[in-house]
Amino acid sequence: MIPYGRQDIQQSDIDAVVEVLTSDFLTQGPQVPAFESAIIGKTGAKHAIAVNSATSALHIACLALGLGPGDWLWTSPMTFAASSNCGLYCGAQVDFVDIDPDTFNLDPKALEAKLEQAEKDGRLPKVVVPVAMCGQSADLRAIRVLADRFGFGIVEDASHAIGAHYQSNPVGCGEYADISVFSFHPVKIVTTAEGGAAVTNDSSLAQKMQLLRSHGITRDTDLMQGPSDGPWYYQQIDLGFNYRMTEMQAALGTSQMHRLEEYVSKRAEIASYYGDALSHLPLKLPKLAEGTASSWHLYVIQVEDPTSRRDVFEALRAEGLGVNLHYIPVYRHPYYSALGYRPEDYPCAEDYYARAISIPLYPQMGDQSRSEVVAALERVLKGA
Ligand SMILES: *Cc1c(COP(=O)(O)O)cnc(C)c1O
Repeated sequence: MIPYGRQDIQQSDIDAVVEVLTSDFLTQGPQVPAFESAIIGKTGAKHAIAVNSATSALHIACLALGLGPGDWLWTSPMTFAASSNCGLYCGAQVDFVDIDPDTFNLDPKALEAKLEQAEKDGRLPKVVVPVAMCGQSADLRAIRVLADRFGFGIVEDASHAIGAHYQSNPVGCGEYADISVFSFHPVKIVTTAEGGAAVTNDSSLAQKMQLLRSHGITRDTDLMQGPSDGPWYYQQIDLGFNYRMTEMQAALGTSQMHRLEEYVSKRAEIASYYGDALSHLPLKLPKLAEGTASSWHLYVIQVEDPTSRRDVFEALRAEGLGVNLHYIPVYRHPYYSALGYRPEDYPCAEDYYARAISIPLYPQMGDQSRSEVVAALERVLKGA
């Protein structure tokens, strides 16, 4: 089976992890700050907070922006459920904004219309979470204009998109988003096994997220209430969590980050190969909006005839392709549909969901696997 994605682990990664295992620190040592510096180096953000998953990063990002009961978080329905679960963790309510059918990202025009209505109803969101679907940045400049007009914070879910660019800047640079979040799960661009990070240019948001990832505890006397009792002293000043990343994970991440550009350029090369090799088939292929350079986390094809999708998907699996589907719209999951969302409110997400198939794409994919993917698609679609 050719998987849809897989990690790349080299000897240098193994050496970096083994070295940490025999060092003084397995957690809370020098590796996490070094990994955070690597993230800062690649994104240009001022602050990076590494945590044990992107899910945790989304949670503390929302808390840092003050999201709580009585507030609304809006996101794209075409994402992994973590992008909206973070709102529910904070006790907020969640709503969805339909996608742009070309980029599969939260559509700023749909957002504007929904905001104008919400303003009349007195239900404006406190936080909006655009997702960089498949590795392509959402139109953050347009979303920033709306954020300034309607007063919400932007938490960019860039789980797919470390190494991608938007308007010549690295995703995560903080020009438009208040906070951007990355995932380092093994299927993503670089991995720490489990892991994530939040980046921001705002030092007070960074400080809040640092506190929240480790119990809300500080040893910084400037943050304490009252004087310190002595050199052993620390205070819990907020209700935080244990969302820390281990030293082994951080060392793996730093080692992987040396190959970030290489990974992204290999992914882009495979995407461009698919773009040419599949153009004669009855498929809609992914498009990049002007000014975006995707990290190509996913390559999603869409069948022309949605009634054929299930057969095409099953035939591709039978051909040995580990095809997948990203994503089931979040509002369709039973946990969410019980909250009252209606699929007909999201026609573009529904249409996408009826046609989409993610085909294999990962940097170590050789010429042979790529042509096998194309040949299998040719056989299946000509038979369809
Ligand atoms: C993978 C992913 C997440 C969650 O990442 P974890 O690190 O597994 O918590 C969140 N959002 C999106 C869009 C993802 O793809």
